Amino acid sequence: MDDTSQPAQPTETFTKAPAVAFEPDATLPDPVRAHFPGEEPPAGLRIGDLGPGDESEPNIRQALLGEPFDDPVAPSSVRCNACAHRCVLRPGRIGICGVRQNRGGWLYTTVYGQIVAAQAEPVEKKPFYHFMPGSYAYSIGTQGCNFHCAFCQNWEMSQSFREGLVPDSRDVSPDEVVEEAVGAGARSIAYTYVEPTIFIEFALDTMVRARAAGLHNVFVTNGYETPEAIELVAPYLDAANVDLKAANDNFYRRVCGAQWEPVRDAVMEMHKRGIWLELTTLVIPGLNDDPHELRAMAEWIATAVGPETPWHLTRFQPAYKLPDLRPTPAATLVAAAEAAREVGLRHVYVGNAPEVEVATTFCARCGEKLIVRSDFAVTEWHLADGRCPRCKHALAGVGLEDSPVVV
Ligand code: SF4
Repeated sequence: MDDTSQPAQPTETFTKAPAVAFEPDATLPDPVRAHFPGEEPPAGLRIGDLGPGDESEPNIRQALLGEPFDDPVAPSSVRCNACAHRCVLRPGRIGICGVRQNRGGWLYTTVYGQIVAAQAEPVEKKPFYHFMPGSYAYSIGTQGCNFHCAFCQNWEMSQSFREGLVPDSRDVSPDEVVEEAVGAGARSIAYTYVEPTIFIEFALDTMVRARAAGLHNVFVTNGYETPEAIELVAPYLDAANVDLKAANDNFYRRVCGAQWEPVRDAVMEMHKRGIWLELTTLVIPGLNDDPHELRAMAEWIATAVGPETPWHLTRFQPAYKLPDLRPTPAATLVAAAEAAREVGLRHVYVGNAPEVEVATTFCARCGEKLIVRSDFAVTEWHLADGRCPRCKHALAGVGLEDSPVVV
């Protein structure tokens, strides 16, 4: 991948169900069509254009990746296949994420264009260190999330449904997001703050337009996408930072209300499809800071995704349901980073811990200093056309040809 590729144009078409009013007891429309990639495309909706919504409910749109579910006790049930929970929703019910609902036997998103946060920020903050360094990403997010992590830093957005909160929001169209991103000087749009898969309809509509405007698209994700969801976004998705919370099921079940294997599979699927990946692990004292487990995570990354995959180890700060837990000791982060390098990972970074921060990129082959960062800004750039000036090894990443440093 590079940042000079031509914008992709939407080519696939999908059916669109008729608009239906909210009638929890309505019978299932016949025939029900789910929206799946790879199906014979009937005339109808183009990906990237879900069409106008109902004026009285501007954030309600028919969802992608829903299918009828045969429940003899509850006719008109549907299954959502956007994330690995694969929620089965009886009429009127809302999924685990809080923002996808069965209305009359059809799956709907309830947050289309309902943006809770939007701002331009250094791409290093997401964090991406090997993806268009020194550029700005226009970050957007809705409310809701398919995880309920006890340590969530954005819980007022992600857990609003569970906590009974109504976060401030504004309604925007995909075109407006792209205009705002271009106006802010961003080179990419980041779908972030909460899990982007839960608002995949709005994300996809925006991603198509972003590409047409010459922008890149990046996900900051918990990696709980289904293969179907990945197939839908892959043609428009340039990079993903996957939050690798642990590499075992126990942690995912206990702390996040999820499972490890779907995350593992999604990371490998995105890697297989050529989406640039960086991984991030928030190291939490007593929960996922076992040195053997952290070493095992590093080994898995090096084997499954490759030794030149950036791994960001970040310090936990007390938040949400863990207000009394202490911040991660610096020694824990340093030891985890050293162990990761020992098992072969070449680009290990330490963040949110100023006294031991590691934010400099070194050549994976000869160790030459290549990119120096400070406060999420690139301050030194030693690459020559994306390569180490000493040994000529190409740095793994995207958009590394031109220096962002103004001299
Ligand atoms: S996106 Fe939401 S409704 Fe769909 S499967 Fe995941 S948690 Fe359930």
